Amino acid sequence: MTNKIKLENLTYYYRDKKAVDNISLSLHSGKFLTILGPSGCGKTTVLKLIGGYLSPTKGSIFIDDIDITSTIACSRKIGMVFQNYVLFPHLSARKNIAFPLEIRKLPKNECEKKVDAISELIGLTQKEIERKPSELSGGQQQRVALARALVFEPHLLLLDEPLANLDKELKTKLRSEIRRLQKDIKITTIMVTHDHEEALPNSDLIGVMDHGKLMEVNDPKIIYDNPHSVFVANFLGETNIIPANFLNISRNGMAHIRPEKIKIGTYATDCNWKKNGIITSITFMGTDFLIDLKTTEGFHFKILSREPPLSTIGSTITIGIETEAIWLIPDNLKDLK
Ligand code: ATP
Repeated sequence: MTNKIKLENLTYYYRDKKAVDNISLSLHSGKFLTILGPSGCGKTTVLKLIGGYLSPTKGSIFIDDIDITSTIACSRKIGMVFQNYVLFPHLSARKNIAFPLEIRKLPKNECEKKVDAISELIGLTQKEIERKPSELSGGQQQRVALARALVFEPHLLLLDEPLANLDKELKTKLRSEIRRLQKDIKITTIMVTHDHEEALPNSDLIGVMDHGKLMEVNDPKIIYDNPHSVFVANFLGETNIIPANFLNISRNGMAHIRPEKIKIGTYATDCNWKKNGIITSITFMGTDFLIDLKTTEGFHFKILSREPPLSTIGSTITIGIETEAIWLIPDNLKDLK
């Protein structure tokens, strides 16, 4: 498989503020990469550098092995969707979608055909595309933004928190629609978000950023189960970070166990590692129950259980962990002498 996009030592400073710190990365053609990270870690800046809206202080950007670092934005053939849609308010949705074709001077009838085809693919009706953005819902506006980003058949699609302004139900719907569309048209895509729930089910690869650095890139399941650092483990969802030696492992360092992998009560009976603890809280999460427990040694554990716990807050229960559910975080691991 070929590399569609490659970043080499990409670095960017806003005056003296380093926003992107020496990022190198490559993404194969047709893949969907999600970059996750806390607010201000540099996600949007990375997209702006790839899109050509900013020029890197240092480093290079390649598309199909061609160095495009100095290519101007409109010649890069990259579609971009921003968090706040950035549609032209005075133009109809149709005119908004046609805009990238018009600036490329495509004949009018070809423009119309392409706008109709992409609108249908994205689920916008003929009636909807005749309306102005203010006459459309948030979800419809985001579909228009997506249609505008795709209508000129770009090499690469960049999505900057495209679902951030939508309600949860619409978010879930559009998220899977975007993924289906991305797979259907096989467009290489980079999305940024700070929401791991958005990233994990819909990506071929997940990258996690912190303070301008790309901490790790991996397959969603691997990065979720076997992260390389405590930061990445925490960023991808609830976890338990416990000293390895407390789990009877002869290493100095931290282990991580996801809450859904810890067993309680009778389910814990056959586990190699078992402890008693007192339940300190029980929270119903919609489908699962999140149980907080404190062991007699003072360690806190979070456990996710499908079934409501049989015990109440303040009572003692047994928790158990299978050896294969424990992941030793490679950062700062040392063997005990
Ligand atoms: P968010 O998730 O909040 O959108 P982000 O991860 O996308 O954040 P960026 O917008 O890329 O982060 O910003 C990275 C850093 O650069 C932040 O510290 C931000 O304050 C700073 N920054 C962004 N834009 C500018 C600018 N125009 N001038 C100066 N500093 C900026």
